[in-house]
Amino acid sequence: MKIILKKNEHRRIKSGHLWVFSNEIECEKDFSGNGCIADLYSNNNNFLGRGVYNKNSLIAFRLISYKKEDINKDFFMKAFKNAENKRRIFFKDNFYRLINGESDYLPGLIIDRFNNRFSIQIFSLGMENLKENIVDALIELFSPAGIIEKNDFDYRKLEGLESRKGILFGDTPDEIIAEIDNIKYRIDILKGQKTGFFLDQRLNRLKTRKFINKGDKVLDVFCNDGGFGLNALFSGAGNVTFVDSSDYSLSNCKYNCGLNNFTNFLTEEGNAFDILKKYANEDRKFNLIILDPPSFTKSKKYIKSAEAGYIEINSNAMKLLENNSVLMSYSCSHHITVNMFENIIMKSAAESGRKIEIIGHSEISPDHPILPQMPETEYLKGFLVLVN
Ligand code: SAH
Repeated sequence: MKIILKKNEHRRIKSGHLWVFSNEIECEKDFSGNGCIADLYSNNNNFLGRGVYNKNSLIAFRLISYKKEDINKDFFMKAFKNAENKRRIFFKDNFYRLINGESDYLPGLIIDRFNNRFSIQIFSLGMENLKENIVDALIELFSPAGIIEKNDFDYRKLEGLESRKGILFGDTPDEIIAEIDNIKYRIDILKGQKTGFFLDQRLNRLKTRKFINKGDKVLDVFCNDGGFGLNALFSGAGNVTFVDSSDYSLSNCKYNCGLNNFTNFLTEEGNAFDILKKYANEDRKFNLIILDPPSFTKSKKYIKSAEAGYIEINSNAMKLLENNSVLMSYSCSHHITVNMFENIIMKSAAESGRKIEIIGHSEISPDHPILPQMPETEYLKGFLVLVN
């Protein structure tokens, strides 16, 4: 089938963006069903690319190829091989994001590799219809022990897709032991959040090591499996307090401490907002604090309340730091830009009455690349803040 854009609406696609919004389409020809492969044309009939179409979605077309080629098992094998080669430049182990959706030119598809198990998330009806090809390509290329779908998230409703998780091929144990940068983690793909493990903070977790002096007291807030705090303990922290609202995350975090023979830690289960406030009232002090919250807003509508939330946790964290100590503060809300986040840090400092300097930024993990022509692919930002 064919989709023809309104006049001038080809420009964003020509600049390298991969989405077409429904209001940019003039007409469709030979409609072959929602979620089908479609060819995209400019208003004056120039072929722009091949992709998937869903007229019920606001993002009606997602471009997958600039050629008129078959999108089948072989196509995915080539794409996955190429993605693996890129990852191999940076990672010598087998724990990385193999496909990062749009930034790997496979819109709506996330694949994380945990050694010989692959965890998949699919965000569009068109990609869902290609799932069999995706699974077959992974099997042929990697001979995996298991392929698991973690499609249990609300966004899929926008595409008319149901939420589900389960095994697509092989099996998955409840304990995959990953050794990443000399730290051991237990990964349970089905029970863990998102794909089962957060790979995007790998380089930022490593930075923790730079700021640790022997015996330091560390607070890892929104810790999940404990990646930041575990790196702090690895470098000689005296004590780490892990905070999360999920009892599963904290039990995994404890387990991970055990795997690495770390004993000098505490866990605190609950709402981080309340815990930070309580610690500030008790005048507790730490030498390093990490704040890595979930996204506070999935849409532009809630930016104001998200900002207020960030200011609350950041200002309380600043109050909790000894003089000349570091706050590592992150935001994974796409709608909070770097400038907005810098402003949040500034306001938090004023609120806490502390003097601050920014001494570093969040690192992009090379398996989570950003397409500059597609700002939607950038979500993680962060500042390393010296508080005195
Ligand atoms: N820092 C982690 C990733 C954090 S993901 C790492 O390096 O892997 C965000 C975490 O915040 C999740 O584990 C989630 O359970 C937790 N969370 C969400 N809302 C929370 C709240 N209000 N209080 C405490 N934890 C919360």
